[in-house]
Amino acid sequence: MGHWERLLGAALLLCLLMAPAAAAPNAPRELGEGWEYRWGDSPFLADGTPAWTGAAEDDAWRPIAFPSNPPDRAGRRHAWFRVTLPEGPWRDPVLYVYSIDLIAEAYLGGERIYRHGTFDATGEGRFVGWPWHMIGLPEDFAGRRLYFRVYSDYTDIGLWGEVKLMERADLLGYILRHSAAALVVSGLCLLLALLAGAFALIRANRRGFAAIALFALAAGVMILAESQASQLLLNAPLLWDFLAAGGYFTLPVALGLLLEHWFADHRPRLIRRIWQGHLAYLALALGAAAAGWVNLSITFPVFDGLLVISLTILLAAIAPRLRRLDPLQRAILASYAVFGALLLVDMLVAHGLLPWVRVPVSAGALAFALAIVGISLADYARTRRDLARLNRHLEREVDERTRQLQTLVERLESDARTDPLTGLANRRHFQRRLDATADGAPADGAPLSLVMIDIDHFKAVNDRHGHEAGDRVLAGVAEALRRHFRDGDAICRLGGEEFVLLLPGVDAEGARARLSALMAELAGQVYHYRGRLLGPVTVSCGIAAWPRHAADPRALVGLADQALYAAKQAGRARAEIYA
Ligand code: GH3
Ligand code: MG
Ligand code: MG
Repeated sequence: MGHWERLLGAALLLCLLMAPAAAAPNAPRELGEGWEYRWGDSPFLADGTPAWTGAAEDDAWRPIAFPSNPPDRAGRRHAWFRVTLPEGPWRDPVLYVYSIDLIAEAYLGGERIYRHGTFDATGEGRFVGWPWHMIGLPEDFAGRRLYFRVYSDYTDIGLWGEVKLMERADLLGYILRHSAAALVVSGLCLLLALLAGAFALIRANRRGFAAIALFALAAGVMILAESQASQLLLNAPLLWDFLAAGGYFTLPVALGLLLEHWFADHRPRLIRRIWQGHLAYLALALGAAAAGWVNLSITFPVFDGLLVISLTILLAAIAPRLRRLDPLQRAILASYAVFGALLLVDMLVAHGLLPWVRVPVSAGALAFALAIVGISLADYARTRRDLARLNRHLEREVDERTRQLQTLVERLESDARTDPLTGLANRRHFQRRLDATADGAPADGAPLSLVMIDIDHFKAVNDRHGHEAGDRVLAGVAEALRRHFRDGDAICRLGGEEFVLLLPGVDAEGARARLSALMAELAGQVYHYRGRLLGPVTVSCGIAAWPRHAADPRALVGLADQALYAAKQAGRARAEIYA
C-alpha cells in the first residue's frame, strides 16, 4: 500500500472514530436516575450470592443522585449501590464507567458480571489503579437491577465521573474523542522535553533548560498516563497511575528548579528546600506504594495538600521580585499559573469539592508548551541577531588585523632590503636587482655598468674619531651617492665601507664621467659629528661594463672588484675601468 493510501485509510478511520456518537442508532445514555446506596457490605449466601442482591425489598436502601460518596461516611470503607437498568433497543450494550474508587464488583440478578480488583475474605482489597471500565451486559438486562459492591480506604468511595450505557462499538470512538487533545498535548510536551533537554546539553543556560525539560517531560508523561487512551496502548492501569503520579509529583520539583535558577539572589535556599521536599516526597510516596506499604491512591491527596502549601510559599517568596523577570520568564510563569489553576480545579473536583467535570488539564500543559515554543522562537531570533552582530564585529576585527599584518609585512619587506645605517638598499636587494637586470639585458641591448666603491683608509677615520663618527661619514657618503645617481640606478651598500652601483644604459666611460663628478664633490665634503668636523674622504672605484667586459652581467661583480683593487693599487682616490 502506498503512502497516500495509508494516509487516506487513517483519515477515514479517524472520521469513523470521531463521528458524533449521536449518529449511532443508540446514543450513549447517562444512567442518571434511580440510584440507591447502602453503607456496609452484604453477607454472602452459601451459594456465593450476596444477600443484598436478593429480591426481598428492605428499607435500608437510600436514594442518591450519583453512586458516589454517600453522606455520613463516618470512616466506613464499604458501600453498595444499585440502579434499575432502562429499556432500550440495544444490540451489544456495555456500561461505561469513567472510574471507580477503589475496587468493585458488579452483580446482575445475584450473578457477578464484573470485577475490578480483588476482595479478600474480609471484603477488603488493594488499590489496582483508576482505569475506565467497560462492563458487558447480557441481552435481557432491561428492567433488571444492577448492583455495585464497593470497597475504598480512599477519600472517595463509589463510581466516579460518568456512568453511561452505550453500544460496545461506540465506546472506542468515545474514548479516543475524549483523549485526542490530551494525546496531542502530551506528544507536544514530550517533544519539547527532548528539545529543551538537547539545549540543556549544548547551551550556556543549562539549568534553565534542564528545568524546562524536566517540567515538559513530567507534564507530558502525566497527561499521557491520565488520558483514557493510555489504557488502549497498554492495559496496565496501575502502571499508568504510577506514571501519572510520577509526572504529577515531579511538576513542583521542576518548577522549583527553574525558580531557584531565576531567583538565584533571592531566597534560593527556601526555594531549594521546597523542591527538595517534593523530590523526597516523590521518592518516598512512589517507593512506599511500589513496596506495597501504602496504596498509591492515598499518595495523591497527601501530595495535593503539600502542593497547595508549597505553591503558596513559593508565590509569597517570589512575589516581591516578579517585576524583575524579563517578558519571557513572565510568559513561562503565566503559563505555569494557568496550568496550576487547572490542576487546582481538577484537585477540587477529585476531592468532591466541586461537581464532576472533565477538567481540561491538558489545556494548561498546552499553554505551557506554547509559551515555551514562543519563547524558543524569540530566543532563536535573538540568537540569530546576536550571531549576525558578532559576525559583523568579527569581520571588522579581521579587516583591521589584516591591515595591521599588511603594514607589518611591508615594513619587514622594506627592512629586509634596506641597510639601516644609510637607508640605501642592501646586498640582498642588489643581488636581486642584478639577477633581474641580467635576465633582461640581452633583449634590452643597452649597455650596463657595475661600479664597486670603497672608502679609502676608512679604518683610520674609525681609529681617530671613533666608530660612531665613522658611521656619520658612511651616511654622508651614502647621501652623496644618492644625489649623484638617479632613481633607475641601483645604489647599494654591500657592507662595511663598500658600495656598489648598477647603472643601466651607461657604458664604462659614462660611468667614469659620473664618478668623477661624485669624487669631486666628496673632495669638498666635510662631515659634522658632535661639534667636530670630519673629512673629507676619498673613494676608490672599480668599473666593469656589459657587454664590453663580460657576456653575462653577473660576472661584472668580480671584474669590477678587480678594477677596484687596481684603483687601490694605483694610489686610491680614483676610478679604474676593468682591463
Ligand atoms: P683601504 O683604503 O685599503 O680600503 O683601507 P680601509 O681602512 O678603508 O680598509 P679596511 O678594510 O682595512 O678597513 C675597513 C674598516 O671599515 C674596518 C672597519 O672597522 C670599518 N667598518 C666596517 N663597517 C663599519 C661600519 O658599519 N661603521 C663603521 N664606523 N666602521 C665600519
Ligand atoms: Mg674595504
Ligand atoms: Mg676602504
